[in-house]
Amino acid sequence: MSKKHTGKLTFLGTGTSQGVPVITCECGVCSSSDFKDQRLRSSVLIQLQNTNFAIDAGPDFRQQMLRAKVKQLDAILLTHQHKDHIAGLDDVRAFNYQRNKDFPIYCTLAVETALKREFYYAFEPKPISGVPRFNIQHIDKGIFHVDENPIEAIEVWHHRMPVMGFRIGDLAYITDAKTIDKDQKLKLKGLDTLVINALHEYKHSSHMNRQEALELIEELQPRKAYLTHISHLFGKHQEIGTKLPKNVFVAFDGLELSFEYSC
Ligand SMILES: [Zn+2]
Ligand SMILES: [Zn+2]
Repeated sequence: MSKKHTGKLTFLGTGTSQGVPVITCECGVCSSSDFKDQRLRSSVLIQLQNTNFAIDAGPDFRQQMLRAKVKQLDAILLTHQHKDHIAGLDDVRAFNYQRNKDFPIYCTLAVETALKREFYYAFEPKPISGVPRFNIQHIDKGIFHVDENPIEAIEVWHHRMPVMGFRIGDLAYITDAKTIDKDQKLKLKGLDTLVINALHEYKHSSHMNRQEALELIEELQPRKAYLTHISHLFGKHQEIGTKLPKNVFVAFDGLELSFEYSC
């Protein structure tokens, strides 16, 4: 018998690949004093009954773990191999030492290939001490489990690169999407909460802009939606909010949401 539970999502980062503020930029967003305009690279922490995992581990991973005071992390799910989503993996060492075991990383074969290149020293047959130790679990579109929890991987397109989105119960987290095929959209029906990337107002080859994200939300009809992977070019947090329908919100670092799931 599966039982219903309430899970928690915490936004660890909601910024695009350079984060906000952008180094050297003096625009109004990058110099804003509103804490909601300070965005680390996009990542979330998912807390289930007995299992905590992060989706992505970008360059700000260490800072994000410290800021959210994460003491228990059981796995990391990777959406794709771009640096703003994997660069922080060296710091899983803290969790290697805490538990004296290899750290579970859920990713596709293509992402693993990139990890073997980017973190070659962790994959050597006899790695020297002090390197991160990964326990790679392969995923593909479809259902997989983290501990006993079923999670559905949804394949989306980042220009021509496949990226995994994840559905956990009535919540789905999708980042770095430009388009989603029809068969994958079917997995996003009946959502309470959709988290979706929206870079800014302008057209972009590999990211949805505001209009494209709103069209997807209109099509999928989740009860509510949150925009993430935000560029400084999108404007200040407060301004973006005024251009959205009533059930669509801009995510910000530290925002927490709850959702229902069963296992
Ligand atoms: Zn990204
Ligand atoms: Zn990307």
